[in-house]
Amino acid sequence: MERLKLATVWLGGCSGCHMSLLDLDEWLIDLAAVADLVYSPIADHKTFPAAVDLALVEGAVANDEHLELARQVRRNSRLVVALGDCAVTGNVTAMRNPLGAVATVLQQVYVMHGDPRGVLPDAPGIVPRLLDRVLPLHATITVDLFLPGCPPAASAIRTMLEALLRGETPPVLSRFG
Ligand code: SF4
Repeated sequence: MERLKLATVWLGGCSGCHMSLLDLDEWLIDLAAVADLVYSPIADHKTFPAAVDLALVEGAVANDEHLELARQVRRNSRLVVALGDCAVTGNVTAMRNPLGAVATVLQQVYVMHGDPRGVLPDAPGIVPRLLDRVLPLHATITVDLFLPGCPPAASAIRTMLEALLRGETPPVLSRFG
């Protein structure tokens, strides 16, 4: 049997969804018997590879680096899963949206409620540029499956992965909206 090429991706999220994945504990050894982890923050790969079978994406799309990575993931993955509420709806990451424009957000965070010297981050090419609004993953790329939860329970992640490994449609949301 072909080994599954599995990627996990960390966009604008707290990493709690990855922690839930790690909560699968010894089942991860079973997973490692049939899958190769080809990209992940927990494996520290630098570039997203080609021909990925399954990409689990945590987090919303909040800046230009997230947007570029999300597009790379879509171009190079057969199945893309929005993993957790931030990827599915924006959730916690999108809480800045009601504050308005990026300039207002930065002013509030770094000046009004932050650094008393009033210094804004200003390093083009080093500090990612914030998007005007935080977006759920499906607003930027086509998403195949949605697994909500904050975070999704480890058991729900396992159920989804087991179904996908059997070639079945897993019992998670296959559409959103
Ligand atoms: Fe963290 Fe919840 Fe967002 Fe997952 S869905 S990244 S656990 S805030």
